Amino acid sequence: MKRPIIAGNWKMNNNKEETKALIKEIAPLVKDASCEVVVCVPFTSIETARKAARGTNIQLGAQNVHWANNGAFTGEISASMLTELKVKYVIVGHSERRQYFGETDETVNKRAKAALKAGMKVIICVGETLEEREAGKTAEVVMRQTEIALKDITKQELKRVVIAYEPVWAIGTGRTATPEDADDTIKFIRKVVRKYYGRSSGQSIRIQYGGSMKPSNVKELMAMPQIDGGLIGGASLKAEDFAKIVNYDK
Ligand code: PEP
Repeated sequence: MKRPIIAGNWKMNNNKEETKALIKEIAPLVKDASCEVVVCVPFTSIETARKAARGTNIQLGAQNVHWANNGAFTGEISASMLTELKVKYVIVGHSERRQYFGETDETVNKRAKAALKAGMKVIICVGETLEEREAGKTAEVVMRQTEIALKDITKQELKRVVIAYEPVWAIGTGRTATPEDADDTIKFIRKVVRKYYGRSSGQSIRIQYGGSMKPSNVKELMAMPQIDGGLIGGASLKAEDFAKIVNYDK
C-alpha cells in the first residue's frame, strides 16, 4: 500500500521565530495523521524547524538544491549542506523556479539526481501553464518535463521520487483543477513513468496534486484513484488549514 504524502511548501515565508511557532502549532494537530507529513521551509529556517519538529511526525524538507557539491555557485545550496541539517525531502522544479529563476528541465534533472545521490527524497514538480493547457498541450508538456526530470535516475532511486503535478494556472490563484482533470493527467504521468521503469513503478510512484488545495477541496481530490497526496502552498501557512488537509481522511 502506498502511503499518501501531504507536503507544505512555505515558499519565502516565515523567519525563525515564525517557523518555530507554526511548527509547534501544527504538530499536535497532525500527530495522528495516516499520511506522511512534510514541511518545506526556507533554508534559513531549516535548523529551527528541525528542532521544533523533533519527536513529532513532521518531516523536514527544503525548496531547492544545487547539483554540485560545492564551488563557485553564488546563492546556491548543495545536497550535502541539506543532509547535514537532516533534511529528508527537497522540492525541485517548482513552477516559480522555472518561471522566475530560469530553471529548465535539464537543471531540474541535475538537481534531482544530486539530491537522490545524497540520500534525500525529491518532490519533482511538473505542470502546464494556462497557455499550454488552452493550446491542448498539457500531455506533451508534462511528458517532456517528466521524461527529462527522470533521465538517468535508476529504478532503485525512483523509490525516493515523488512527482507533484501542479498545473501552473492553479497555483496561488484559488483555481483548482477538477478532480477528474487532475486524475487524468496524473494517470498519464504514470504511463510515462511506466514506459521507462515498468508497470509496477508506474503504479507505485507517488504522485501528488498541487494547486490551491485547501480544506474545502482536499477530500474530493484525495478520493481520486490516481492522487497520492498534495503539495500545498498558501494553505500550509495556517496551522489549522494545513492540519485539516493532512487529516483529510478523518
Ligand atoms: C505550490 O506552491 O506548490 C502550491 C500548490 O501553491 P498553492 O497551494 O498556494 O496553490
